[in-house]
Amino acid sequence: MTRSKRTSTMDRLTKKKRSWLMSRVRGVDTTPELLVRTLVRQMGHRFASYSQNLPGRPDLIFRRKKMLIFVHGCFWHGHANCQKGRLPKSNRAYWSDKVIKNRARDRRVVRQLRRLGWKSLTIWACQLSDRDKVEKRIERFLK
Ligand SMILES: [Zn+2]
Repeated sequence: MTRSKRTSTMDRLTKKKRSWLMSRVRGVDTTPELLVRTLVRQMGHRFASYSQNLPGRPDLIFRRKKMLIFVHGCFWHGHANCQKGRLPKSNRAYWSDKVIKNRARDRRVVRQLRRLGWKSLTIWACQLSDRDKVEKRIERFLK
């Protein structure tokens, strides 16, 4: 019973979604950055992955639109109100100092980029569990 139920759920998922899920399950070489790049490519957008002259090393660069996407790990970049962004109990002062510095730098970079005419969107690693939602956010941003 349980087994057939599970199978039918998998069947209902589109092929695209299934490979997305599987890549997450396998977890090898699928950093959040790679996942977002794959997703945006599947959405039909073209972008660059590296830039030597932009501050903050954005993960996806849409040159013509002057738009950028950053993919942030919840812990290192201090995602607010996020389970994965929580600090470990030991060495708390050390970690919080690091994370606070990272957050400050992230904000500075976004401001700097805005002054240069670039719009930025940040995708958090935890948001990647909901592909549809991420896709909608990105679509809305790039429109
Ligand atoms: Zn998060």
